[in-house]
Amino acid sequence: MLNERYRVCPNCQYENLQDANFCLNCGNKLSTADEKLRLPNSGDQHFLHPGVQLDESEQAIVDQLVITNGTVPNGYTRVTAVFATGDNQGERGYKGAWEDLNVNLWRLCVGNHYDGVANLKIVPTVQGDRIRLFGYADGLKKA
Ligand SMILES: [Zn+2]
Repeated sequence: MLNERYRVCPNCQYENLQDANFCLNCGNKLSTADEKLRLPNSGDQHFLHPGVQLDESEQAIVDQLVITNGTVPNGYTRVTAVFATGDNQGERGYKGAWEDLNVNLWRLCVGNHYDGVANLKIVPTVQGDRIRLFGYADGLKKA
């Protein structure tokens, strides 16, 4: 059985991916000392960033989406790969890029009539003062 490691931010307790060097929620520096072990499928967490500003109709859509960093949940089937990016200048930093990524991701789901995404992986890159997040995931439809 495969186990998954996460880096839990000591500042805000946000669960980051294992290879994250900075917290995606607050920007705090992370290290191997912050790693925790968790079984896959131990709970599909709601992966949208709590700081993302959405209006009421947008939030209603997002609330219905299944977005998980775990495997494909029971009752759903994988339909296709999903790709979304978040991009921001240094002032807003990781959090701004993360907000952009989330908004792009849910728009992509809605545009393709997906019920959500699974196996979400975020890869950050830095180019000068521009931070770009690439999100890769499996699109989901109800089985
Ligand atoms: Zn944090």
